[in-house]
Amino acid sequence: MPADFDTKIVTQNFGKEDAKTIAGYEKLGGYQAARKALNMTREDLVAEVKASNLRGRGGAGFPTGVKWGFVPKDAKEVHLVCNCDESEPGTCKDRELVYWDPHRLIEGMIISAYALGAEHNYLYIRGEMMREVLVLYKAVEEAYERGYLGENIFGSGVRCELTVHRGAGAYICGEETALLNSLEGLRGQPRLKPPFPAVKGLFGNPTIVNNVETLMNVPSIVDKGGAWFAGLGPEGGRSGGTRIVCVSGHVEKPGVYELPMTISFRELIDDVCGGVWKGRQVKAVIPGGSSMPPLSVDELDVPIEFDALMTDERIKPVEVLRGQLFDMGGGRNLRTMAGSGGIVVIDDHADIVKVCWRIMKFYAHESCGQCTPCREGTGWLEKVCRRLAHGGGKPGDADLLATIAHGIAGNSICPLGEAAAWPMMGFLTKFRDEFEAKCASGAAA
Ligand code: SF4
Repeated sequence: MPADFDTKIVTQNFGKEDAKTIAGYEKLGGYQAARKALNMTREDLVAEVKASNLRGRGGAGFPTGVKWGFVPKDAKEVHLVCNCDESEPGTCKDRELVYWDPHRLIEGMIISAYALGAEHNYLYIRGEMMREVLVLYKAVEEAYERGYLGENIFGSGVRCELTVHRGAGAYICGEETALLNSLEGLRGQPRLKPPFPAVKGLFGNPTIVNNVETLMNVPSIVDKGGAWFAGLGPEGGRSGGTRIVCVSGHVEKPGVYELPMTISFRELIDDVCGGVWKGRQVKAVIPGGSSMPPLSVDELDVPIEFDALMTDERIKPVEVLRGQLFDMGGGRNLRTMAGSGGIVVIDDHADIVKVCWRIMKFYAHESCGQCTPCREGTGWLEKVCRRLAHGGGKPGDADLLATIAHGIAGNSICPLGEAAAWPMMGFLTKFRDEFEAKCASGAAA
């Protein structure tokens, strides 16, 4: 049965202070799924997660069970790493999940590590999240004391060690291979792929990197079955479960919400978030963190589910130059993605060029500098947006931005380059008139 507004999986313990303690979590039924999982075969567990249609909640939406299946069968040592380096602008769900329900995350990691045959596992958390770090330290300590982590978990003979590692605040360390470098004590810069981490990751061993929300869904999948979880998603779709979105920007009630995937962006804004603030109208919506191209006000009737927003084709930058990029047909060709669930609502009083400048400033600052198109290109996107936003625009600046974005997309080592290029292309295409107006007013000044 598809999820409704009362279906809560990963947020069911929000607001329950007691759930943060191991005793309180167990009183609510916690760690029963881990006990059950340890009596299953690893193959059955992976099959159950595959059947659930659980898709990675970090941004890419890749099927979790399929990702687990990439670990070579004859691997001697495997690692599971939880990516809690949440820092995509607009995204603030993982910190809340960790803060309110740390034991659900630990339980999800125990089950997942067992399924993968991983003994030495890591939880990489953004260093600035001190409130959450302290909650996690305590929860991990309690789990060790009770024998739920360590050499012989639940008396099963299975080993599962868990180390909490604080990052140092670089956005790029949320990219999985940069995160692994950082864990190894190296500079947090992305690695060339292939090899992919599932084959050669941490310390050269096969490694699965999963997001917090992804792992926190695993206990419920084991408890109620993969078919139940798959059934919560849109009928006939490829996504199981619910979706956490974090809504910010110009709405009356911003917040972190767990919702059925069938809800549309328009319903989300009007019915869940109390509408646009100050009685204004929507101008644009960033659907999944600032790296995602925006939706315009005419495109808000699509659901928040992964596939509804996906593009069938790669963005063709040359079409941006011609001002004809986005084919609006069918609701399946919006050329954006659900990403990390960070939804930013932008009202009709906002200056889109300034919004773009702010976004480009972030990516220019966070580029690790390893490859030229991203290092130089993000800097130039920021500079040109800045001069447009401050009245110094020149004729042709809109085309110049498109050319720079074109030079980055598809030409960088990791997705950070595209995280800047894609929204630039999207804003340019859907709000071209605002950019052209700034070019004209700058030239006239
Ligand atoms: Fe670094 Fe940017 Fe290249 Fe990624 S795309 S490796 S962040 S320079």
